[in-house]
Amino acid sequence: MTRELVDSGSVLRSVDPVYGAEVARYPVATRDEVVAAVDGARRGRIEWAGLPATERRRELLRWKRLLHTRRAEILALLTRENGKVGADAEIELTLTLHHLDWAARNAGRVLRSRRVSSGLLMVNQASRIERQPCGVIGVIGPWNYPMYTPMGSISYALAAGNAVVFKPSEYTPAIGQWLADTFVTATGRAGVFTVVHGPGATGAQLCRAGVDKLAFTGSAPTGRKVMAACAESLTPVLMELGGKDAAIVAEDADLQRAARAVLWGATMNSGQSCAGVERVYVVAAVAERFLEALAEAARAVQAGRDWGPVTMPGQLATITRHIESALADGGTALVGGPESVRAPYVDAVVLVDVPQDSAAIREETFGPVVTVNRVPDLDTAIAAANAVDYGLGAVVFSKRHGASIAQRLEVGMVSVNDVISYGAVPALPFGGHGGSGFGRIHGEAGLFEFTTPKSTTHRRFHLPVEISAHNRRRRDEWALTAISRLVGMR
Ligand code: NAD
Repeated sequence: MTRELVDSGSVLRSVDPVYGAEVARYPVATRDEVVAAVDGARRGRIEWAGLPATERRRELLRWKRLLHTRRAEILALLTRENGKVGADAEIELTLTLHHLDWAARNAGRVLRSRRVSSGLLMVNQASRIERQPCGVIGVIGPWNYPMYTPMGSISYALAAGNAVVFKPSEYTPAIGQWLADTFVTATGRAGVFTVVHGPGATGAQLCRAGVDKLAFTGSAPTGRKVMAACAESLTPVLMELGGKDAAIVAEDADLQRAARAVLWGATMNSGQSCAGVERVYVVAAVAERFLEALAEAARAVQAGRDWGPVTMPGQLATITRHIESALADGGTALVGGPESVRAPYVDAVVLVDVPQDSAAIREETFGPVVTVNRVPDLDTAIAAANAVDYGLGAVVFSKRHGASIAQRLEVGMVSVNDVISYGAVPALPFGGHGGSGFGRIHGEAGLFEFTTPKSTTHRRFHLPVEISAHNRRRRDEWALTAISRLVGMR
């Protein structure tokens, strides 16, 4: 099944991924309309940025309460437009509310201007750092978490005093529109949070429309294009890209718990999670028992009941290619196989002993497929986990060595004895490095991401020694040398 998202009249249609029924239609924004949206946001931001932090907090919390009151609407839309089953939609809404609440309540404290010591050389100055909003933030989002993921940027950017122009994924435009509409209803403000619709080309126009920062969440290949477009105007970027997260199962792990958690981390949301578990490295001594527990758990779940369809039809080909190449490269299928792909659903697939250079190990699969490799020891597990281009998240199962293993993993986030828990802790920064991007959403770092530091010094009194003037006396120069020596010697 393919989906024509934009018709010849430049209308974007979103459809139900199971039945293909139309969910919503929007005109594709023209280049001028994208520029006008950014200009409107530049006007809208003046009043928003000028509000006291307490007032922004009040308005954002009012928006949060409205999202909660109208939860039935968005849960239904998450199922219709994205295909999520009830539990996956409920998790997404809960996380969204949790982060919006944290950003609203903490922005004032985190971004408060603060005094810093001026040091010996500038002892007569009062020094301050202020955090100023960047201005207008362009947000480009994906379809897999069409609310939680972009709101990781939008909530924190708004709380920091910015205006936002959001280009939702062409697969989930109605969810993006619903977010912006509810913001206007809750706050009565126009031009602070607006949406432009369209395919990738509209995203490229947003990069070039004069935004002050571009927060991108999506795949690494698109991330490169976004960076290139933003480089033309030196627009700074935040890159939240894909992942190939590994789970390490140590000899002292609770194997039943590890198997259940790995299965959930690999299959929830149909495996369409940037920080989903795609690879497992299990220490050989406990591998048979772990695989038995994982296979039993995987045979008890089913696509269509425990998770929804694959949202983007094109992804089915990638999932099939990864399963087939893993088997051709020498891996074996413990649960499922190519026959598990029954469009638009994919059942759980567990592949065992897949060579490290196979596509199923190196590339993002984005389906309910997990590879499990037996390794002789933890050092080999850690080296294998680190040996991919991505560096988003990781998972460790060990009763005694969780912290030390986590420390050696080259990723932005680790869950020990659980999966993806960090994403539900608003105070923790979210993001990765390498092929998974850079910059952070969530937490204090997520608020800093949408501000720029401004440094101010204020001369409070005259010193007997004059440094910042040409008409220095000889004794000023001696004093300067003495201070320089003092600073150097300390
Ligand atoms: P994608 O890269 O195909 O598209 C993402 C967005 O970019 C869409 O809105 C799309 O219209 C837009 N776009 C496409 N071409 C563009 C261009 N040339 N210029 C500007 N914008 C353009 O990704 P997707 O399929 O929507 O999402 C899945 C990907 O997102 C996966 O790789 C997943 O791991 C990643 N993801 C990452 C995180 C994270 O926080 N790190 C979270 C969710 C998803």
